[in-house]
Amino acid sequence: MSGIDDITEARKQKRAALDEFAGKRFLASFGVSVPKSLVIQDATEAAAACSKLKLPVVLKVVSPDILHKSDAGGVKVGLGNAGEVEEALRAMMKHPAIENARIDGFLLEEMAPAGLEIVVGGLRDPQFGPLVMVGLGGIFVEVLADVSFRICPITRLDAEEMLDELKGAVLFRGARGRNPVSREAIVDVLLKIGGEKGLMMTHGDDIAEADINPIIVSEHAAVAVDARFVLTQPKN
Ligand code: ADP
Ligand code: MG
Repeated sequence: MSGIDDITEARKQKRAALDEFAGKRFLASFGVSVPKSLVIQDATEAAAACSKLKLPVVLKVVSPDILHKSDAGGVKVGLGNAGEVEEALRAMMKHPAIENARIDGFLLEEMAPAGLEIVVGGLRDPQFGPLVMVGLGGIFVEVLADVSFRICPITRLDAEEMLDELKGAVLFRGARGRNPVSREAIVDVLLKIGGEKGLMMTHGDDIAEADINPIIVSEHAAVAVDARFVLTQPKN
């Protein structure tokens, strides 16, 4: 299935958003790096899935009812073998927020290389049309609102300027003993989302909101480990 098929399928099922697996496949179709992943339905499928992935892996609940998976107990990182995945999955299913939700399955995915967490988003302004945003992850976005916006389409220079505007931009150079991270890889993602041939310009009619939070940026790569695409209201 391609990105547009995922959108068609989600609409057919009267869904308001793409699930994480479909969202990542959609991103990958624009050349954004995502972790290799599989969806399993229960613990009995863990061993076969683990044999197809590089360990350790991350387990995540996939549910249209759960927006913030970690808050619900629906994310477990660093699982080293199939036994650990089975155990984590069984424990996950017992969390109250998960037990009472509609569950589409469990996403099992490879770990991204460690790095700096950033956020990239897309939205539609009624007046200006598609916008793209970037920010540093965690408290930088939530508490400090350290984000930068542009109207699409953006050029490479716009993307560079967006990064320069961030108060936390110094972190890209590596601070407090951390390795520097690839600004080039972030610029590349911004163009794939907000550029002329990017996701927002080509699919703005379908995508009301894109939230890629986080993208983990290391010295040479930027990997989108979470993705949520909210669809626009159907026209008919
Ligand atoms: P939530 O719905 O809570 O936002 P995420 O999918 O963003 O769930 O996962 C929560 C956190 O777990 C991320 O911010 C990141 O730190 C970590 N994480 C998730 N997936 C991966 C991955 N594939 N590799 C490394 N870390 C990950
Ligand atoms: Mg997230």
